[in-house]
Amino acid sequence: MTPTHHLSADTLMAFSAGTLAAPIAAVVACHLDYCAACRARLREMDMIGALLLEKVNGAPISVRTLATARYKAETVVPETPVLATARRPFATASNGMPPALKRYTGLDLDDVPWKWLAPGIQHHRIALPEVSTGDLRLLKIKPGKKLPEHGHGGMELTLILKGAYTDCVGRFRAGDVADLDEEIEHQPIADETEGCICLAATERPARYKGPIARLLQPFVGM
Ligand SMILES: [Zn+2]
Repeated sequence: MTPTHHLSADTLMAFSAGTLAAPIAAVVACHLDYCAACRARLREMDMIGALLLEKVNGAPISVRTLATARYKAETVVPETPVLATARRPFATASNGMPPALKRYTGLDLDDVPWKWLAPGIQHHRIALPEVSTGDLRLLKIKPGKKLPEHGHGGMELTLILKGAYTDCVGRFRAGDVADLDEEIEHQPIADETEGCICLAATERPARYKGPIARLLQPFVGM
């Protein structure tokens, strides 16, 4: 399955510039592991960034920069059976842990030490470097579970690893990334059969709408 929900241009640009909060950047890296389309767009942005930087610094764009930029653009990784296989795990592998996250945590999806978070929801918080802000965690949501309606105090990225969920934006399957900004309020519902395992990153805590969800928030830490 090739992802159908991708990273926004703003997010890719910020990733290219290195300005994203660590948990958000981690989810971007995991989606890039699987998405050739976003990798290609990122390469273009890296190229534009290099050109702009030289311009901002006042120097005329050198032949060397242009050659480097062209080289980067032209060395787009060709579509090979290896790449196709690399994207396929979302649809076929029994595991589903993104390679970038496996390298960082050493965990397979089957080995995650899930903890209870709320009825029908388990989680595993991923430790971040001390200087990092925000939150990065794996969430396992039981089939048919409806999450509390909420908005976000900042950027939120969610990458689906297994199963699916549906909200006002659409249906998100394995490999898809939900790139939400502060404007969006949503109420995800996990797939009726498979449920949903996802990797969720937030810059700041979510804003829950219901009184019970708001009361629970200090305890669950989201
Ligand atoms: Zn993508």
